[in-house]
Amino acid sequence: MDSKTKALLVSIGSADIDEELLKAGAGTTVPVAGPGAGKESFFFRSGEHRVRLSISRSSPLKVLGRKGDVIILHEGAEIARGRLEPALCHCPQQAYLTVSPACIFDCKFCPVPKLSGKAKDLDRILELVEEADRTGEMRAISLTSGVARSPEEEVETVASAVRALREIYDLPIGVSVYPTSSSSEILYAAGAAEVKYNVETMDREIFERCCPGLSLPFILESLEKAVEVFGENRVTTNFIIGLGEGDATVEAGARRLVEMGVIPILRPISPHPLRAGEVYVKRPSADRLLTLARMLRDLLDEHGLRADLAETMCLPCTGCDMTPHRDVMRRDP
Ligand code: SF4
Repeated sequence: MDSKTKALLVSIGSADIDEELLKAGAGTTVPVAGPGAGKESFFFRSGEHRVRLSISRSSPLKVLGRKGDVIILHEGAEIARGRLEPALCHCPQQAYLTVSPACIFDCKFCPVPKLSGKAKDLDRILELVEEADRTGEMRAISLTSGVARSPEEEVETVASAVRALREIYDLPIGVSVYPTSSSSEILYAAGAAEVKYNVETMDREIFERCCPGLSLPFILESLEKAVEVFGENRVTTNFIIGLGEGDATVEAGARRLVEMGVIPILRPISPHPLRAGEVYVKRPSADRLLTLARMLRDLLDEHGLRADLAETMCLPCTGCDMTPHRDVMRRDP
């Protein structure tokens, strides 16, 4: 598939898949963190592009087997041909674990505080990573976490897990948490290679409304410090698209982040039934996704940043987003 087709698939975000294809081995995954938490999904790969689609019987996309391939139909016409990709632990080629699937904060677009899952202890984390490693496909380990009790405690918990994993695996480890005043130093010293602190949005008014208790200035300060500690191309942030922000705000916000050496991940919002009515959400169109991804690619190019160098978390996965330098290359028409 080409990048326009991937943008269409990402904008729809779901598909009705023939159950027999899933039984054949690729299986499904249910994310326990982020706006897509709790929705069963699968990964489809075609050429250089990968997409994660949640399973919905009412989706306009149909996924079927055809002569050994997997095809995607849109309004009855084939638009992509490829294969299903197995997820190791959440996504292909990574053990991507959520340490605490619970949160004391209450971001209005996020189902995690409502799901209040049980935290994984170190033994369970090691067990899950070992299972992923046994496939022979594991290229990286990524850890994310809500905030079960306090950001400080969460950073310490995740850093302990990084230290333990470092002793066993010679693979890059990425961490995504809510930052603290010393989280970058702690995580780097523990052996993390990359870090992600999410701004969620760069629209101040939307941030104030949607993320009570969080501080955008503090997250930005923490990202700046993270670049000093981890280096350029090693620090990312999720920037949600579809909360009512304008494209000019996205561009200005992305520019500010890129100028700091941070790579924004422009993440299409996934409306969640547990948050129905609490927040304005509009999944971005394929055209908008493509336009914003090209804008971001140009900004990264202008500032010498490379989204294709990241080894952990979402940039190498690409399943949920239009990723610059992977889905949207320089020579893109
Ligand atoms: S892009 Fe990120 S959130 Fe989406 S499936 Fe991949 S690792 Fe998970």
